[in-house]
Amino acid sequence: MQSLMISVSGVRGVVGESFTPEVISRFAAAFGTFCGGGTVAVGRDTRISGPMVEHAVYAGLMAAGCTIIRLGISATPTVQLAVEKLEADGGIAVTASHNPPEWNALKFIGNRGLFLSESDVNTLMEAVRDGSFQYVDHMHLGEVSLEKNFNNEHIKAILNAEVIKPDVIRKKRFRVAVDCVNGAGSRILPELLEELGCDVVKIHCEPDGVFPHGLEPIPENIGELCSTVVDSGADIGFACDPDADRLAVVDEKGIPIGEEYSLVLAAMLVFAHQPGSTATNVSTTSAVDFIAESFGRKVCRSKVGEIHVVQKMLEYNCVIGGEGNGGVILPAVHYGRDAMVGAALILQLLAEKEKKLSEIVNELPHYHISKLKAPFDSQKILDTLKKLQRNAAGAEIDTTDGIKMLFPNHWVHIRPSNTEPIIRVIAEASSKQQADEIAAKYLAMVTA
Ligand code: MG
Repeated sequence: MQSLMISVSGVRGVVGESFTPEVISRFAAAFGTFCGGGTVAVGRDTRISGPMVEHAVYAGLMAAGCTIIRLGISATPTVQLAVEKLEADGGIAVTASHNPPEWNALKFIGNRGLFLSESDVNTLMEAVRDGSFQYVDHMHLGEVSLEKNFNNEHIKAILNAEVIKPDVIRKKRFRVAVDCVNGAGSRILPELLEELGCDVVKIHCEPDGVFPHGLEPIPENIGELCSTVVDSGADIGFACDPDADRLAVVDEKGIPIGEEYSLVLAAMLVFAHQPGSTATNVSTTSAVDFIAESFGRKVCRSKVGEIHVVQKMLEYNCVIGGEGNGGVILPAVHYGRDAMVGAALILQLLAEKEKKLSEIVNELPHYHISKLKAPFDSQKILDTLKKLQRNAAGAEIDTTDGIKMLFPNHWVHIRPSNTEPIIRVIAEASSKQQADEIAAKYLAMVTA
């Protein structure tokens, strides 16, 4: 049986195994208590187990005295924005993001629309473990509101962001192919693109949770989008994951440019219009540093995980941020990774540059990232990190999250997973072969 996985991004498990209604409603009740029995917005992605999980969440929240704002099928960033704008006391996004269909999860959102901090997650998990949360009596049970979809407000917030100029994009009449993997982005992403005057060619935009291919928007999963771009003569292709917080881009030739570059392109636009720096995690491509340097800006690096990046962005008042997995954060809209925000920023860039996407990408350094993982005994981590440090002559060392060794022409980042007994090795170099070789060499070293 797969055990329940608890991390800074929430709690997840396999439905019918570890992720049962009892478990789900217990977490929801503890979260409801954490929110002071106030108002909680709840949205879900499209997976088949969504309605069961959603109802177990309602039961837990109502039992804790919470009033529930039902958002229905919603992207995770839409839930985050709704919490902030509706001034709710918290939010729950029911989504296992890119995990396989049998998984589901709860992502907990605090009253400002940000994911809970690490210490708040720890407090919540302690309450679940100790049962130190409150069920109210029958006179004080919470209520469920009528369903209120927040997609239109989300689209409006993006169109109103200062850096987005809808009229400039509309004049270009872009043709855009889009693959939402039949997930929570299936309505909102095409609708946003239509608002921006695009001729939208949709594939897998039925929000029925029947996932047509692998769920991460990585090149091996989006071949059909690439051929749709070519066949339809599109200017660009967009793919998102099931809860639409991650965005990947395909150029007009049908080439996936790699999800690491979604943030790079977004930053290129924002830096051209606004002073300020960017934040991203330590595993994200050095192409971000290239763009920041070309505008004389700073890159603040955080631990891996959206909330860590967001905390850096708040600390340094960053104008753009995100993660190399395709997560773009524009604080002018909200502090959350948002595929819709990413798409609007990249279309604005395309409109302003008056070049084809492949030409814009060609002006950037071509880095390749190789990501490997292996089972690992977490007791050994300190010894392993010390050994790596001893063998890292000539490298600049960054210990923000595990260890990152920056050499003149490549880097390698080694970190234990927060959620699984595995170690991750990420290497970036100027060729795929070199990145693969470096990652394999270090993986062999840490697992020896
Ligand atoms: Mg996701």
